[in-house]
Amino acid sequence: MDSYPAQSKKMIHLPIAAPQPPETDLKQWIPLTSLEKMSETEYDVLIVGAGAAGPAVLWRLCQQWGQSGKRIGIVERGDLLIPTHSMNIATLNASRKRDFHKNISYPLGKSQPEYPGASQVFALGGKTLFWSTASPRMDPSDMQEWPISYEELAPYYNIAERIMNVSKGYTQDSTLTTIMLDILRGSGFPEATELPTAVDLSATKFGQVHSNALFSSIAFLGSALNLRPFDLAVNARAVQILFENGNATGLRVMSPDMKSYLIRAKTIVVSASTWETPRLLLHSGIQGKAIGHYLMNHSKIVATVKIDRSYFPEVLGTLFIWKPRTAVQPYQMIIYGPDLERYLWYPVFENKEILPEFDIGIETLGVVEPQFENYISLNHSKLDAYGVPEIQIHFSYSENDKTVIGQMLHATNHMIASLQATIGVKNRQPDLSFYVPGEDYHEMGSCRMGNDPSTSATNTYGRVHGMSNLYVADNSVIPYSGAANPTLTTVALAIRTADHIIHQLTK
Ligand SMILES: Cc1cc2nc3c(=O)[nH]c(=O)nc-3n(C[C@H](O)[C@H](O)[C@H](O)COP(=O)(O)OP(=O)(O)OC[C@H]3O[C@@H](n4cnc5c(N)ncnc54)[C@H](O)[C@@H]3O)c2cc1C
Repeated sequence: MDSYPAQSKKMIHLPIAAPQPPETDLKQWIPLTSLEKMSETEYDVLIVGAGAAGPAVLWRLCQQWGQSGKRIGIVERGDLLIPTHSMNIATLNASRKRDFHKNISYPLGKSQPEYPGASQVFALGGKTLFWSTASPRMDPSDMQEWPISYEELAPYYNIAERIMNVSKGYTQDSTLTTIMLDILRGSGFPEATELPTAVDLSATKFGQVHSNALFSSIAFLGSALNLRPFDLAVNARAVQILFENGNATGLRVMSPDMKSYLIRAKTIVVSASTWETPRLLLHSGIQGKAIGHYLMNHSKIVATVKIDRSYFPEVLGTLFIWKPRTAVQPYQMIIYGPDLERYLWYPVFENKEILPEFDIGIETLGVVEPQFENYISLNHSKLDAYGVPEIQIHFSYSENDKTVIGQMLHATNHMIASLQATIGVKNRQPDLSFYVPGEDYHEMGSCRMGNDPSTSATNTYGRVHGMSNLYVADNSVIPYSGAANPTLTTVALAIRTADHIIHQLTK
């Protein structure tokens, strides 16, 4: 046998592969731009806030503009917290995810007696890092009072569903879902169907990585990055929109060390949430009778029902059923489980206990009507660390809302009775509760769209009335709550707003 030196004498001469330095200065999992740098650029479009809607606008602009040379920037008040939806992270199970979310959230509701459940997530990705991915469309009857028709929004729903991977596939053919659907459809809930969720169900193989199963808006940022460059700054709190004669000229942004920067832009899109968008507009002195008003949520009843395991075959699967609203039932119901959220999402390597009985949850969400008297105001006697007034939330349910809540309770009890009669769960009191405003996480409407500036903050494309180049894209533009979880609709509207901006800037 040849010795090593003898072998090396025979070696062909090859170029030496020395360790290579990185080609860029990327030090995080996403490229960042400093505020100093951003203040040297005039952006064609500058977006405020990277929750659900801001990155949706960004993605659409990047997709449509490609390498056109347009400059797009996005500033996010929070930091880099996690790079994906929390349930895609191996160290988080349902209970650790819940606690992590509660601990990092800003408990706005603590100082809001009329809206005690309000909370905010200040981080890249916003609340989409923790959302439950329920993504039904609004029912056409939800949109009867809207200033745009369901047919007009439908193509944007299609785009949003494709990019967010929305389908009914997550629970389709699961034993528990199939059996429960049969029970419900036969006992007064014929519309019951699998719940559409924003979950990527593709397998990771053939060179494609699908590890971000649950959708978060970090996926929008990733898709956008692969299309073209844009500038993103985190820890960048927008504190004031600058404008002259109905024309927004730039944004004053502050870093946590209280340095102030002016970023110039031809168009600004505010996507800072139902709480923070009207706050920024009002603090900037932007006029509008409806700004901050018509705040809505979903009234919410949750029931927990114990189910006897022996009524079900060995392979249980998981449960996510949706009973949509109908023209005469202004509420939707979501049935989930087993064992509340614990086995709805659980890491594959976690031991799944086999229980003699398990809980399922029935969540009923009701339509809440827009009222001028439900609003957000600035509390000028209480400033935050950036010198911006804190908000005060004024909210109560109307008589119509209370009628809907009565119908919801009736429907919830009817569903419990149907399950008890069919599955034979007896002698147990269901755990039934009404959630305080905010615990639904579905605040909407505080910059609602519409045609009349006296009852709406923006036009039907999200452009603030009286301003030529200032837009809103987030839950706050939703004009009537409907019964459906709002995020898919917000994303569809945000994509529509982006298309409108593209049209305006390329005329
Ligand atoms: C636990 C949980 C479960 C949920 N489940 C569902 C569900 O199943 N289905 C559903 O449809 N919805 C669900 N939601 C609600 C959903 O997350 C929201 O509807 C959605 O995130 C709202 O998007 P947004 O863009 O309006 O606001 P956010 O997601 O709140 O994003 C706003 C962003 O703006 C940033 N920001 C705020 N102020 C400023 C400023 N001044 N300058 C710069 N940046 C700023 C914030 O830091 C944040 O990143 C859930 C929410 C939670 C918390």
